[in-house]
Amino acid sequence: MRIDLHTHSTASDGTDTPAQLVRKAAATGLDVVALTDHDTTRGHAEAVAALPEGLTLVTGAELSCRLDGVSMHMLAYLFDPEEPALLAERELVRDDRVPRARAMVARLNELGVPVTWEQVARIAGDGSVGRPHVASALVELGVVPTVNDAFTADWLADGGRAHVDKHETDPFEALRLIKGAGGVAVFAHPAAAKRGRTVPETAIADLAAAGLDGIEVDHMDHDAETRARLRGTAKELGLLVTGSSDYHGSRKTCVLGEYTTDPEVYGEITRRAFGAFPVPGAGGA
Ligand SMILES: [Zn+2]
Ligand SMILES: [Zn+2]
Repeated sequence: MRIDLHTHSTASDGTDTPAQLVRKAAATGLDVVALTDHDTTRGHAEAVAALPEGLTLVTGAELSCRLDGVSMHMLAYLFDPEEPALLAERELVRDDRVPRARAMVARLNELGVPVTWEQVARIAGDGSVGRPHVASALVELGVVPTVNDAFTADWLADGGRAHVDKHETDPFEALRLIKGAGGVAVFAHPAAAKRGRTVPETAIADLAAAGLDGIEVDHMDHDAETRARLRGTAKELGLLVTGSSDYHGSRKTCVLGEYTTDPEVYGEITRRAFGAFPVPGAGGA
């Protein structure tokens, strides 16, 4: 059984529509895929409608959090998407995305980069605009060769010259909200240092004590040594270990199913969640 628990569609900053994404997931031989767009569940309905037979969809989202000034991402699975407190917090985060992207464009203009808001908005299309769209604009303009090269201190990495903070949820509050909506919480790529500063690994123990279910260990941004260390941390704290592609379509280099989650861990996630159930594909349109 092949299980990929972290993907993005055009509902946030991926390049495949939710329908394209589930078709690709089936074609690539996945049995289970989670759709975890940033701070939104907007893509779920389309993914469900297009779900091929033999593929199971786990509904989810990746919540933008910040701990002591450091950004971090919390994956939430199988929560009730209508639960009012979690819904309100997601909206608060999302509504901040346009002003923030505009502010990054203004910073870039000050740095002499002729990027425009119209360009960034066109790249985002109807996805919720974010930093990767600004990064793609920098690639279009020839300022950097690849999107990854835009995520540096010179440009858009956390604390970088053109970086602007966004509203992000306190992770302990996020845990409370996810749990309150019947979901399961997994700390995404906790040691992905090349994206900017990461929270100290001692914070994982505090989050575990506050109800964190697991950590994403097998991820493209973790090297072998980091994975081994995180696996040890998870074992010590009794946390689940997941692996995922963090697929963004053509915006990033990883492919669907590049990293996967153990079926036993997946089983445990579905047992703990009570906000929503995995959706088995019935051979959608
Ligand atoms: Zn993330
Ligand atoms: Zn992600």
